[in-house]
Amino acid sequence: MRIREIKVHRLLGGTVDGGWPDGHEPEDDLHALVEVIADDGLTGIGSVFTNSALVEAGVETLRPLWQGEAAVEPERVSEKLRQACFWQGRGGTLEHVISGIDIGLWDLFGKVCRQPVSRLLGGCYRHRIKPYASLLFDEPDILAARLTRTVERGFRAIKLGWRPFGRRNSKFDEVLVRTARETVGPDVDLLVDAGGSEQFWPHGYKWALRTSQMLADYDIGWFEEALPPDDIEGFVRLRNASPVPIAGGEVLTRRQAFQPWIERGALDIVQPDVTKCGGLSEARRIAWLAYDHNVQFVSHGWNTAVGLAADLHLAAAIPVARYVEYLTPAPYIEEILTSPFELDAEGMLPIPQTPGLGIELDRDALARFAQP
Ligand SMILES: [Mg+2]
Repeated sequence: MRIREIKVHRLLGGTVDGGWPDGHEPEDDLHALVEVIADDGLTGIGSVFTNSALVEAGVETLRPLWQGEAAVEPERVSEKLRQACFWQGRGGTLEHVISGIDIGLWDLFGKVCRQPVSRLLGGCYRHRIKPYASLLFDEPDILAARLTRTVERGFRAIKLGWRPFGRRNSKFDEVLVRTARETVGPDVDLLVDAGGSEQFWPHGYKWALRTSQMLADYDIGWFEEALPPDDIEGFVRLRNASPVPIAGGEVLTRRQAFQPWIERGALDIVQPDVTKCGGLSEARRIAWLAYDHNVQFVSHGWNTAVGLAADLHLAAAIPVARYVEYLTPAPYIEEILTSPFELDAEGMLPIPQTPGLGIELDRDALARFAQP
């Protein structure tokens, strides 16, 4: 069984506000799906965290390497692509594209074997997991209303991210966090993301440490991206001094980039994004490296329903896993499947049990989102 074609699906018109300074339009082109088509017509679906023009260019650049390759050997094929593109931007766009192809190949492999991907990744340690709703901070009254709605929808864990947190002053940051805790009460897990990957991030170690002490007063479960994403020394110091666990790693790609962060103890929670870091094959290696160093693994999941499905299978197949990230409301998560994800009565998400990723794309929705 061979790979015949890889098709790129654009996603436009439902892009959520990322909260970044360059503004936001629903038409922003940030994610794309890739569909791997085998010579017998069977298909597997993957997701890529980069815009469709770059994904199309990446798929074409890699064409001589994937066309006619085995359609049921995800790990070997994606490693071949990775190792063969060392001149064309190791770890950049091409690694993002390889991520999508790898996820698509796992989906195909599962369909051919008639097994869920989680079983093929090594086996299921769990059949459901707690999703944390990923939201942006906002002015206190808007924030409180947004949190109330999210809890009413059944979420038992929520992460709040960046703007305006960390952008005004420390007193206001505390107002935001206090508002959040008072709104959701003591029983909902709350996590905070500073979004330190933003361009020209102004804060350093002292801000991060002081802020982590404030977050501890409100029982915040982790403090994410408190420093710029290359400041490994700062993260090592912060992890040692902070009273709340320190999370990061969403912008890193390739297992080799994660190695020093895990081995040097820079993070309590490592957060690879399967749609960027190299796909399920690479994320699994990172997850196991983390597990062997007693570092918690939680996928970064600000992407699509396909990315979330991949995260669910991966979370099922590693010994310790506490959460998956669930961006919401998010049309590319909630509107592109024939059977959208649903929380159970305890706010947990079941791991799909049908072959492959266990999801089916709504083709009408895909066609709608492909139009500018
Ligand atoms: Mg983040």
